[in-house]
Formats: sequence, structure tokens, C-alpha cells
Amino acid sequence: MSLAIGLVGLGAIARAQHLPALEQVDGVHLAALASRNATLPDLPCYPDIDALLAAQPDIGAISLCTPPQGRFDQAMSVLRAGRHLMLEKPPGATVSEVEALREEAARRGLTLFASWHSRAAAAVDLARAWLAGQRLRAVQIDWREDVRKWHPGQQWIWQAGGLGVFDPGINALSILTAVLADPVRLISADLSVPEGRETPIAASLEMRTGAVPIGANFDWRETGDELWRIQFDTDEGRATLDQGGARFAIDGRVQPAADRSEYATLYARFRDLVARGERDVDVTPLRLVADAFLCGHTQQVEPFQEVPHG
Ligand code: NAP
Repeated sequence: MSLAIGLVGLGAIARAQHLPALEQVDGVHLAALASRNATLPDLPCYPDIDALLAAQPDIGAISLCTPPQGRFDQAMSVLRAGRHLMLEKPPGATVSEVEALREEAARRGLTLFASWHSRAAAAVDLARAWLAGQRLRAVQIDWREDVRKWHPGQQWIWQAGGLGVFDPGINALSILTAVLADPVRLISADLSVPEGRETPIAASLEMRTGAVPIGANFDWRETGDELWRIQFDTDEGRATLDQGGARFAIDGRVQPAADRSEYATLYARFRDLVARGERDVDVTPLRLVADAFLCGHTQQVEPFQEVPHG
């Protein structure tokens, strides 16, 4: 039987990825929408999650595509109503609220899937398999994009809990922590916060796995093409995972990757987790971000203008 899913928050990622994936994946279907502003044709639509849950006890699962701030209350409503839950990344605005959700889901025997879409990128499994046989020397992450192109008008990313440049940067950390065998720890961080904003526009991190150094540069001030790349130096050569995890090359030779869409993979996984009565909640990437805020040196940089001068 197909899993009926209620979608909450019809913003950029819901429209670009969740709606098409829900069409593609067998065994799941979109059954209702909760949105403050939007409706979809031929679909029951509600102004908020509580109205949806009350009106449609037949909907067994909810997918939350709202910003991380405020997601906890929505998520708790879903679990208390006895429905399975899939969360967009990051799974919350704090680590402790995600842990509380995990406990609540476990206590009720419900599936909670804290998704990390970049881990489902086409070449990530290739990178993990190759790295398993390597002696690592160093890792360098460069994650640069134009915030005006990728987050136009999104106020929540600049507000506390919105992560700022860690909103894309956490995707790199989700891949990093999925492909390395050993834990990653944060050593230091430098955060550049525009005057008048609450979250960083750029961040550089120093991390380690064992004794191996890992550097990361996250920057939203890129005005050219985006760069979403992780470079691994090993005793045998250099491998590069780029295009956000979609392309893997060893010493410049591109390796054939899986032909799959990130979000179709996520919904197939959610369906399977529900069928097996399992949960998948990994807070590791969010914990590294929290550590960067805990120990990071903050410097104020020039104000960010949504529309550039000149
Ligand atoms: P967005 O375009 O701002 O959409 C978020 C939607 O959530 C809004 O359209 C709104 O939908 C709803 N919402 C509820 N409360 C809100 C509030 N207080 N402020 C703003 N919106 C509120 O954001 P998004 O880019 O889709 O990102 C949503 C989540 O997906 C984030 O956690 C983000 O990290 C993740 N994500 C985004 C991308 C991307 O490329 N954009 C990629 C992967 C993951 P209604 O008007 O329908 O209520």
C-alpha cells in the first residue's frame, strides 16, 4: 500500500525537489499540503500542520520543508498525532531539540528520518568505498555560492537558528561525515557576520579526523559559478568529490556514478524506514556546526545588501 504523505511548507525546495520526487517514487504519494500561503490543485490544503493532522487521520506520514526555526513544534505535533516524520536538513535549529524528537519518536514507535540530501548525491557512495582503502593525508572543503542566487529574499537564513552560510555548508559536513571512517572533530572556526545580521556570510573551519587535518571554507560572497567541492589527498593520489557530491574523480579521472536523484532516493528511504519500523537520525553534521558557533571567533564584516549597490 502506498504511504500517504502530507507536505508542510511550499517554498523553494518543496517546489523544486519534493513535489517531483513524490511523483517519481513508488509506494509514496502526496496526499495533502499545509501552507500559510499556497494551495495546489486537486489536493486537500490546510493553513497549518495542526489543521492538516486534525482533518486527515488517514495521512500516515508528514514531510516538513519549513525553515529550521519553529520546526520543533511542528515536528512534535506530528509525532504526538502518531504520524511518521521526515525532516529537511538541518533537522532542527539546535542539537538538543533533534535529540528530543528522536526520543519522542522512539517512545512512540514511529519513524523519524532526519534527511541529509547531499548524502544521497550520485557519487558519495563511490567516494566512501574508495576512501575505505586509502591512507588519508589531508582533506580540503570549498563550498562557495552566491547567496543572492540561491537564497533570494529568505530572511530566516540571516536570523539566529537559520545557520547563515552553514545552511549550504552543512551539506558538505554531511558528506564528509558519511565518507570518512573515523569521527571528525572541530578544532577552530572563524565566522564572518555582516553588520546587522545574526548569522555568518562566510566561515572557515579547521577540523581533524584522527591526526589528519581537514580545512573548510564556506562562502556566500561568490559571484561566479558555485563551487561545492571536497578534495582528499591520500598516499596514492588526489580524489575530488565535486558538484555537491554528484561527481567523483581520482587523479582527474571521473568515475562512473549512479544515475539517481537525491530526493527520489530520500523518499524511497523514508518509505523503507516506515515499512521496517526504523528511525534514521544522525546529528553529527549539526553538532559540528554547533561546535563552530561554540568556539568560533566572530568578526563583523560589511553589511549584506540583498540588492547590490551600483
Ligand atoms: P523557503 O524557500 O524559505 O521555504 C520555506 C517555506 O516554509 C516557506 O515558503 C513557507 O511555506 C514555510 N514557512 C513556515 N514558516 C516560515 C517562516 N517563519 N519563515 C519562512 N518560511 C516559513 O526555504 P527553502 O529553501 O525551501 O528551505 C526550507 C528547508 O529546506 C531549509 O531547512 C533548507 O535548509 C532546506 N533545503 C533548501 C534547499 C534549497 O536549495 N533551497 C536545498 C536543500 C534543503 P508556506 O508559505 O507554504 O507556509
